[in-house]
Formats: sequence, C-alpha cells, structure tokens
Amino acid sequence: MILFLTLQTHAQSDLTKQIRSYREKQSNAWLQEYVSFLAIPNLAPDTINMQKNAAYIQNMMAKRGIQNIQLLYPTTPKIPPAVYGEVLVPNAKKTIIFYAHYDGQPVDSTKWSKGLHPFKPMLLNGSLEKQATIINWPKEKEEINPEWRIYSRGASDDKAGVMAILSAYESLIANGKHPDFNIKFFFEGEEEAGSDHLHEILVKYAAQLQSDLWVICDGPVHQTGKKMLVFGARGDAHAEITVFGSKRPLHSGHYGNWAPNPALELAKLLASMKDDHGKVLIKGFYDDVTPLTDREKKAVAAIPSPDQQMKTELGFMSEEMTGKSLAESILLPTLNINGMQSANVGKLSSNIIPTTAIASIDLRLVPGNDYKKQQEKLVQHIQSQGYFIVTKDPTDQERASHNKIAKIVLSDGYNAQRTSMDLPIAQHLIQAIQSTTSDQIISMPSMGGSLPLFVFEKYLKATTITVPIANHDNNQHAENENIRLQNLWNGIETFAAIMMMK
Ligand SMILES: [Zn+2]
Repeated sequence: MILFLTLQTHAQSDLTKQIRSYREKQSNAWLQEYVSFLAIPNLAPDTINMQKNAAYIQNMMAKRGIQNIQLLYPTTPKIPPAVYGEVLVPNAKKTIIFYAHYDGQPVDSTKWSKGLHPFKPMLLNGSLEKQATIINWPKEKEEINPEWRIYSRGASDDKAGVMAILSAYESLIANGKHPDFNIKFFFEGEEEAGSDHLHEILVKYAAQLQSDLWVICDGPVHQTGKKMLVFGARGDAHAEITVFGSKRPLHSGHYGNWAPNPALELAKLLASMKDDHGKVLIKGFYDDVTPLTDREKKAVAAIPSPDQQMKTELGFMSEEMTGKSLAESILLPTLNINGMQSANVGKLSSNIIPTTAIASIDLRLVPGNDYKKQQEKLVQHIQSQGYFIVTKDPTDQERASHNKIAKIVLSDGYNAQRTSMDLPIAQHLIQAIQSTTSDQIISMPSMGGSLPLFVFEKYLKATTITVPIANHDNNQHAENENIRLQNLWNGIETFAAIMMMK
C-alpha cells in the first residue's frame, strides 16, 4: 500500500479545506495566544515558570472545551507535571492520546542573534540564514505570510506540538466535527531534561492512560518539507574514554620522542574503530540489528533523497559511510565522537606533552541492540588494542605495570523502539495524514534521533507513532530556534485529520 501512495495522485479532503478556512480566520488570535505561551521560560528545573506554563496550557484546554483537565505529577517532588485533558465519547471503540512536551532545552541568550532572545518571541519575514529581518507582529486582520517564522526557545521543540494539537481540536469543534473515539491530551514537562520521571507518571496514572495509540508530536518533518510519520526512534548510550601519558605535563623539547603522548595514542585508538568507508570495525558491532521488514524496506526506498540538498546546505562533499544515503545510515547503529580534548590549542597552546586525552563517544542504537551489550563491545575493542581498562584514574602500581591504560566511564542509556507499520491503526494513521495533502507523505521506520519511546512500551505496553511538524531547519536545541508558520498551519491540519481517522 505504502509503495503505491507515491504513484497515486492525492487530493485534499473536504475536512482539510474546512480546517484551513477556519485557520485563515483564526490565525491572528492563535499567533497572539502562541506568543504569550512562548514568552514563559520553559526550562524543566525552573519550577515557578514551569507552573506558569502548565497553568497556561490548562487555560488553553479549558477555552477549547476539553474536559477533566488536570496536572499529573510524578511521585518524585519538584518535577514539572504533565498537563492532561480528555474528550470522552460514549461507546468509543478506541482511545488515542496526543503527546507533546512543553519544556525546552537550556539556553545561552548571548549566542542568539542580534535582536533575538529565547524568551522574547520575535517575528521574522523568513529564515535568518537567508537574511530575514525582524518585523512587527501583524495587526488584527492583517494578512499573515506563511513563510514568516517565530524565533523563540520552544517555538518548534515542542510548544508547537501543544499549539497544533489543541488548535486542531478547536478547528474540528468549530466546524461541527466530533471525533468518534476518545481523545486524550498529555503534555510532558521534562522531556528535554531526559524524561527521568515520565515512568512515574505513567505508572501512577496507568488506568487513565490506557490507549490504542500514542501520537507523539516532536521533532522536524523531512528535509524536503514533506509530511512525515516516524515509527520508532534510536536508542542512545555514551562512553567516555581517557588515555594516560605521564603524571605531569612534560617539556616537549626535553622529553619529546621519549615520553608517550596520550593525544596520539587516543587518535590511533579512535582510528582503529572505523574503516575509511565509515564502517565500524568493532567486532560484532552490527550483529544484533533486526533486519527491516518488507514494508519497511519499501517505505525507505520511497523516501526522496535530500542528500545533495543537505550536503550543499551543510558544506561538505561526501557522506561518512560511503554509498549509504542519509535514510539508510540512520537505520544502523552509530559510533560517533562527540568531542575530544587534550591540553590546549591556538593562543593557549604550549610546548608540552599532555598528560591525558579524552574522547566522548555516542552510541546510537537500533532495534535488536542492547545498550549495555553495545557498550561492552566497545570496551572489548579497546582491550583488544592492548589497553588495560580501569574505571577510575590509574594507581601508581597500574601505571608501573601497564603500557597502555584507558579509563572508560559508561553512562546509562536506553534501547531503540519501533512500532510495526503493518498494524491496522498505523495504516489508518497514514491514510488520515495523506488525506491532508496532494503531496507524497513519508513513512520512516525510525528517526535518527532518540526519544525515550521505550518508556511508553515498557510501562504501559503502549503503541507509539511520531508525527513531527517542525521545519527541518528550526535550530532545535540551539540558539535561534524557530518555527515556520506554514509548518504550524500544516500541523493543525494533520492533527485534525488524525482526530477524525477511521
Ligand atoms: Zn522535543
């Protein structure tokens, strides 16, 4: 079925047209509502402002006639609550929960471009990278250009999800449309801080949170701008490797050629982990990967390639894994160097032999991988390169009896998650989203990034499918985060269609 979607011509449904004409009337009011929401700082540890955010969302829900609005607190105190609301239908045959998160990544306001500030939302007449400038907020009834962007922390990740989901519901009711299944809303307040207490909420409110599907709104759409559904996310785990030279820094003239140099040793060790085509050489690294199903393979084959566009945009010539497209690459486990450090460079450099060299390693995981096992393969590889492994700084005795010593600190991690595209509810969801656009929609077996989706599976045995709406160039997690208005409008149409799906 998915394969043929690309070949068929699609038409927008009447529902989508109705939602769109409502939006055209409503967009000024929505912008005002959204800007006030974005102006509330949303860092998870900022308890007072997180309470304000939660109260603001409760008010947005109440205005739209959503019932049983409440704050779901985890058992651990001082953690931001999830904001919950529901619309129940008598004799409903299913329940769908819509998820987004209202907290955002930490900010460094000094890094934001001139005139911009993470919590003073600004309107620009396009993208900053394309020399857009700040413009005034539109007056009542002034026409709104969908290419305009709002710059603010959370504008795309992920207050856009809250806004699009709630406005979709509002648009349906305004058009006299009522979902024929139960709809529940769940807006998390701790996602960017790692969702460490999400499971407490899921366990405490397990009965209330039973559903046939969680629709997760987070992240960007495809780089081509096409609408997208994502059936899973990669898992993630980290390791920090330190290799050691002498106990104190040495004069590179007096001791060069004689004292071991940990920067060079680390470079060699890291180089041993990958071949020249980007393939990881660690033994068994790809062995546990669950192969794609036929439907997943077809879906991947139908994904249009943004590769050349992205290479040009990002300024490099060749992909790391020779011959593998971006879509294929993100379906494999990775080993990435997040950063390296050994003494100083530039103006701060001095003529020394450093004492240590450190690398932070990021291991992304796909279905089949167990994060602890994957970390263990890395440790064994380092051992196979002649290293003595320690978990704390080496003792004098260890230094005296081992030529090469690596300290490895393994972080906690989590595994990947993937929902089957073969489920009937997955097919209904695809059809609903397709009904909003004449363009092809993209079904991805997994996103490259990681979300703790396994938490929903583990604690509620829930099915999740992610429906992102943000523009791909939204500067998520960084300075100058932004949402393109057309993406927000498209998101509203998408969620309205999902709320009316079969
Ligand atoms: Zn997010």
